[in-house]
Amino acid sequence: MFAQAASIVSMRSSIDVHDARRAAPAEPPVALEAVVKTYRSGSDDVRALDGVSLDVAAGELVAIVGPSGCGKSTLLNLVGCVDLPTGGSVRIRGQETSSLGDDALTRLRRDGVGTIFQFFNLLPALTVEENVALPLMLQRVDRAAARERVAAVLRDVGIAEKARAYPAEISGGQMQRAAVARAIVHRPAILLADEPTGNLDQRNGEIVLALLRELAGRGQAILMATHSAEASSICDRVIVMKDGRIVSDASSGR
Ligand code: ADP
Repeated sequence: MFAQAASIVSMRSSIDVHDARRAAPAEPPVALEAVVKTYRSGSDDVRALDGVSLDVAAGELVAIVGPSGCGKSTLLNLVGCVDLPTGGSVRIRGQETSSLGDDALTRLRRDGVGTIFQFFNLLPALTVEENVALPLMLQRVDRAAARERVAAVLRDVGIAEKARAYPAEISGGQMQRAAVARAIVHRPAILLADEPTGNLDQRNGEIVLALLRELAGRGQAILMATHSAEASSICDRVIVMKDGRIVSDASSGR
């Protein structure tokens, strides 16, 4: 029994090493060059991004801050491959998103990116473990392996005992931990977080930020849009945006 458990543990750690290497190619997982994004609004064009260049390395935790409307969500949408730039280059895990067909773009989004939202976005009709398993179902991971991975990631985020609960039966902090588990269960190279602490109390906000720090320590590239000074204070870099441009990009010297 113990030998079996030990072999599972060593198998898991070898998978993690393999993934860490895959997540750290020569090119950073996120590489944006002179990116422009315009939206048509009535008869006007709105320039949501106006020449944004930005690399995020594996293991880096980066905050994006700036007033409402400065382009944070647009930036996350382009990195998350849910939208394409109007101009410039968005390269995700070495792939130019504008040059990909629909299927390749869907695969890149499904396998390469995990996202955490302010309002958790868990499906209410599914249990915590079913919610967390969703990315693995989309990847057609077999059920036994998926069950093992879901259990491991729920232990990692500290809510193993809530696996069978429905979202309505757990606290906001536990919901966000479940959402973090769902965002990382398929071990994406890139994690996007859109105001991840915006709907949490102080203590639960701290728990989620500590989780993000730990994930960056394991090699994930993390981009977090936030209004919270506390959230940006735990980041390696803070990027300040204004009117679709980066006006400051500072390392915290952590
Ligand atoms: P933030 O996330 O910093 O609040 P956004 O990226 O949402 O900023 O928005 C940047 C600018 O782009 C804003 O002026 C916003 O009104 C505009 N914008 C965003 N999405 C759309 C859209 N789908 N259609 C038209 N304008 C949009």
